[in-house]
Amino acid sequence: MNKQLIEGQEKSFISSNPQQKKQKSRSMGEQVNSYPNKLPQTNLAPKSTILNTNTNKDKKVKITFLGGVGEIGKNMTAFEYGNEIIIVDCGMTFPDNDLPGIDVVIPDISYLIANKHKVKAIILTHGHEDHIGSLPFVLNEIKATIYGSRLTLALVENKMKEFSKVKYKAIAVKPKNLLKIGNFSIEFIKVNHSIAGALAVCINTPAGNIIHTGDFKIDFAPIDGSITDITRFGELGKKGVSLLMCESTNVCRKGYSMSESNVGKVLEEVAFKQHPTKRLIIATFASNIHRLQQILNLSQKYKRKVAFTGRSMINVSEVAMKVGELTYDKKNIIDVEKISKYADSELVIISTGSQGEPMSALTRMASDNFKNIKIGENDTIVLSASPIPGNEKNVYNVINRLYKKGAEVIYDELADVHVSGHACQEEIKAIHALTKPKFFVPIHGEYRHMKVHKELAMKLGMEERHIIIPDIGMQLELTPNNLKKTGFTKAGMRLVDGMTLGDTESNVLNDRKQLSEDGFCVVILTISGTTSELVSEPFVITRGVVYNYEADVIVRELKSNLSVFIKSYDFKEMELSLLKNEIRKFVSNFIYKRTKRRPITLAMVMMV
Ligand SMILES: [Zn+2]
Ligand SMILES: [Zn+2]
Repeated sequence: MNKQLIEGQEKSFISSNPQQKKQKSRSMGEQVNSYPNKLPQTNLAPKSTILNTNTNKDKKVKITFLGGVGEIGKNMTAFEYGNEIIIVDCGMTFPDNDLPGIDVVIPDISYLIANKHKVKAIILTHGHEDHIGSLPFVLNEIKATIYGSRLTLALVENKMKEFSKVKYKAIAVKPKNLLKIGNFSIEFIKVNHSIAGALAVCINTPAGNIIHTGDFKIDFAPIDGSITDITRFGELGKKGVSLLMCESTNVCRKGYSMSESNVGKVLEEVAFKQHPTKRLIIATFASNIHRLQQILNLSQKYKRKVAFTGRSMINVSEVAMKVGELTYDKKNIIDVEKISKYADSELVIISTGSQGEPMSALTRMASDNFKNIKIGENDTIVLSASPIPGNEKNVYNVINRLYKKGAEVIYDELADVHVSGHACQEEIKAIHALTKPKFFVPIHGEYRHMKVHKELAMKLGMEERHIIIPDIGMQLELTPNNLKKTGFTKAGMRLVDGMTLGDTESNVLNDRKQLSEDGFCVVILTISGTTSELVSEPFVITRGVVYNYEADVIVRELKSNLSVFIKSYDFKEMELSLLKNEIRKFVSNFIYKRTKRRPITLAMVMMV
């Protein structure tokens, strides 16, 4: 895909914001005219199309928040100028417990569907599911070229395999590339994060520069040797940044995030050095390529073979190796089926399940449900991850079960075997200080995170009236001199059930909730068409309604009450559907009176 990129185009951010022009000419000395960048050839445009003759009043960029604000998950923001929309990120989230049977939740994109003809591009900051997860569904409804790093696009390709009918075009970009889409110029900036290939973007618009950080941290000892490009953030700050949109995940954590390379040192000490004779099983996020790289390096150093387990671990490690983000000697990788050929001291198993996910490899090992691996006293298991809020119970259940099997378990409360991929307060402050934005919008956080982030920006000297805390569906308008809220558009959740799209008000979900809480009851009546009397005893089935010891009594009572009800009821003239409904109501009320439960009740009537 890189073939489509050409070298040597001179950087040409030409701001039509007078204030920025002034700043630009003042800082020409620092201008990086030789700044290397590459452009997809098809998107090359003469400078004259960037300069436009509109007055400031007309230079309005509309920003629509479709997800990722007021929540952590399903990040998606649309930037619109005239007849052009570019989208940054296209994520999904996992459902809360009140959405039984729903697999994933994606953003409601009614606004984009209504403005389909305007959508030009989807820019992906990185390959985490909360940034790419809804692509298969979104691309089914709107057409747009996707841009992202090679690893991000490789992960997208892997995901799209299950949706082969959805066709799309993707172009790989690198840090420092400049992309021209209509009136927008987009520059990609290297950032560190818990996945390789993460990028921030600076979108040059007729209303000024907008920096969207994506997810980031500042790691001064990164595994790939390449630090978040703070120099570039500083240069852009000097040129003039109208709006900063900065992630807020760890804004409540003081200080700095620890370097990813620290995890490698800790893993070497607490696992490899201290347990030379044991079999090592390390569970982590499949997408944390730099973590995998460190485990692979240590395995090689300590002469251990590596087996990957868990579908996503196998997939992602292969994808990352293909694009060159993960390097290892293939000779050191073995199939999990072959581990019995090696001594415990010669093995490292890298597994999924660090979040205690019910079907994951580690959870199945903990419950003796994994074909090739039986956990015992000679196992040292490391959970190289922190439980994501909401997963704690599952994670601790797995840890307890592993301990009961005699294994040694090391997790984040016992040693620093994990670091977050998100910036803490001091790193966030650095981005504000470097970019010196005129306006600020906190993103990627629950309301509490964005509120703390707003206060932090004010402490750094920003005026309150220059900060807006966004909400899902909110629309903002950026002009060269102003940022204001203009209203709301339809936005929110769409539910994905298996491969189909549902909606939040669906009866299916209400039925599932009712079934899970109150069970169901089915009554079958056989009635004579000539005499309108019951031909045989009513047939009653209940599941999840009453406990065994009381079931017989209640069902018997229900049957005799039903017989009386049918006898007393004049239904000769009645439609069958109405009759069924009356019976259903009668049964439902009877059960409610006896049990205070409202199971899903079905009545079937057979006329003979
Ligand atoms: Zn992320
Ligand atoms: Zn994220």
